[in-house]
Amino acid sequence: MAEPEVNLKRTYDAVIIGSGAAGGMAAHVLTSHGLQVLLLEAGKKLPIEQELRSMEWPYDNAHRGFLPPDSHSLTFNEYTIRNPPYGAGFEKAKHLHSYVGSSDYVKNIVVDERENPFTGTNYAWVRARCLGGKTNIWGRLALRLSDYDFKAKDRDGFGENWPISYGDIAPYYDKVDLYLGITGVKENLPYLPDSIFQRPTKLNCAELTLKQGIQKMGRVLTQYRAGVTSEGLKHNKYRSRCYGRGACERKGGCDIHAAFDSPTGLIYPAMDTGNLTLRTNATVREITIDQQTGKASGAHFIDSQTMKDYHVRGKVVIVAASTLESARLLLLSKSRLHPNGLANSSGHVGHNFCEHIMGPGIAGRAKDLVGKAPTLDDGRPGGFYLTRFRNLTEKHPKFIRGYGFEGGSGSTMFPRGTDTHGFGADFKEEVRKNQGAFIGMGGFGEVLARYENFVELDPAVKDKWDIPSLRFHYKFRDNEHRMAEDMKETAQEMFEAAGFEIVHVNSRVLTEGWSIHELGTARMGNDPKTSVLNQFEQSHDVKNLFVVDGSAFVNASCQNPTWTIMALCWRSCDYLADELRKGNL
Ligand SMILES: Cc1cc2nc3c(=O)[nH]c(=O)nc-3n(C[C@H](O)[C@H](O)[C@H](O)COP(=O)(O)OP(=O)(O)OC[C@H]3O[C@@H](n4cnc5c(N)ncnc54)[C@H](O)[C@@H]3O)c2cc1C
Ligand code: SF4
Repeated sequence: MAEPEVNLKRTYDAVIIGSGAAGGMAAHVLTSHGLQVLLLEAGKKLPIEQELRSMEWPYDNAHRGFLPPDSHSLTFNEYTIRNPPYGAGFEKAKHLHSYVGSSDYVKNIVVDERENPFTGTNYAWVRARCLGGKTNIWGRLALRLSDYDFKAKDRDGFGENWPISYGDIAPYYDKVDLYLGITGVKENLPYLPDSIFQRPTKLNCAELTLKQGIQKMGRVLTQYRAGVTSEGLKHNKYRSRCYGRGACERKGGCDIHAAFDSPTGLIYPAMDTGNLTLRTNATVREITIDQQTGKASGAHFIDSQTMKDYHVRGKVVIVAASTLESARLLLLSKSRLHPNGLANSSGHVGHNFCEHIMGPGIAGRAKDLVGKAPTLDDGRPGGFYLTRFRNLTEKHPKFIRGYGFEGGSGSTMFPRGTDTHGFGADFKEEVRKNQGAFIGMGGFGEVLARYENFVELDPAVKDKWDIPSLRFHYKFRDNEHRMAEDMKETAQEMFEAAGFEIVHVNSRVLTEGWSIHELGTARMGNDPKTSVLNQFEQSHDVKNLFVVDGSAFVNASCQNPTWTIMALCWRSCDYLADELRKGNL
């Protein structure tokens, strides 16, 4: 697809920064309103099908699917014992990636940590700088939030409520479901609203056993709600329906785009309207301000390859660079009118940073299935989701908020349980006998949004493009650790209730950032003194500036955020288009 050239003399209706879930959605909604839109993306447009090669067998890959020898991806221990920006100790690695970058299929999608350094407290920051951002490789679990999340303060007194209720966003969740496709089963749970689902995946034997085992405890296990089209989308020629090829299990994305990604789901259809100009390799370094009106006027970007500097103009600027990069950009955009950074009169930009705590989990064996003939269980874009059960009807004595578990079981392309001791024929026999009987799950819990957890600009360290890096001040605290302890205990109690043999219980909390669900650095709210954006993700300070990614979140909930990011963005962009038409921006 030919990309039209960016016109530096023109004032676009809207300039969008970032092309992931948020930027892609903004491009889709605004171009369908007939606006002339420029989309700036720091990374390049990769030949993504060649990168992902979803059907490649391990033996056809030079490194069995792992990284080439000159590259290294950070391990849990390295995150905890080495200080970012990861200089000394990694001399042998030409390319250094985050923990996600451990496969040959994602090495060009995730960033090189050395080119994109950050400092401060430990953080496993996973970034994808290419067209589509992290949506090229996301895990597809697509969940809604509810008023248990939007009005969480009413329930336990902590933090702030969102300035919206579920009723405000529900119609936009519906739009996202119908436009992008989602699989799942209706459960009628007040704390995890249903989507408009396409054909669901099936639970396998051990998963059903767990579902039935925990029913008597009042707990719910449901099919993985995957942001995947299982029935196809007649309105989208770039995406195929899921063939159930099982490649989702592997680290990497879906090369037939059954799993949602921003380019094929949102950006290419937006380009087909004729209203979208896409500029890749455009690293925005500053949002500019008209010093007369105080409004945003456009953006300065550096060509990521030639290093040449450009300025583009827009009537509206939409920041969608992902939670932490968006905060960085606002902080970088200092001016006489905005000495603390753009949209930051409240001092809250970079603060109230939150996400999900991960680590505690369990592996078990359904004894009845040991030695049974292998079944084909991996033709699914996901296993199961075990929904939140804490602090819904009763108050837990040790922590507030909740957590859910993601898990799966059954025979897959890469057998589970290969860490069994032994070697040779006996080892192979042992793996064969047990692999279909394994079942495992890991928790994702809400990290409270606290002002004290924040990022700021580092005064000394800069990235490859000479742009100041972020410095982290971010830690899990008591509530999270007590919740993690509970995850470990309830995982065991549920596996016991299902009659599984427990193989391993994990109590280790993973490094901050591991969930890749960073949120909340420019939160929305009604009070401009304590929030950065209003309910339409519009800056309180600069009315033609919108921040439409996870930074707008008021709390993290325990549900994965991407579907909510897109539903909120759709709502905000409808409002934006209306306000622009009325001359209010
Ligand atoms: C392995 C993995 C598994 C995941 N699993 C799930 C899951 O199961 N469920 C779920 O809900 N979420 C999941 N996520 C998270 C999900 O991918 C993100 O929530 C989502 O992509 C966020 O969208 P975004 O647009 O905010 O950011 P991104 O997708 O990161 O896109 C941001 C874009 O902005 C660009 N950009 C950054 N800075 C600049 C700049 N200065 N100038 C121009 N462009 C810039 C980046 O290059 C990037 O393309 C997962 C992520 C990963 C990596
Ligand atoms: S299982 Fe479906 S969504 Fe996953 S890689 Fe295969 S076709 Fe894509």
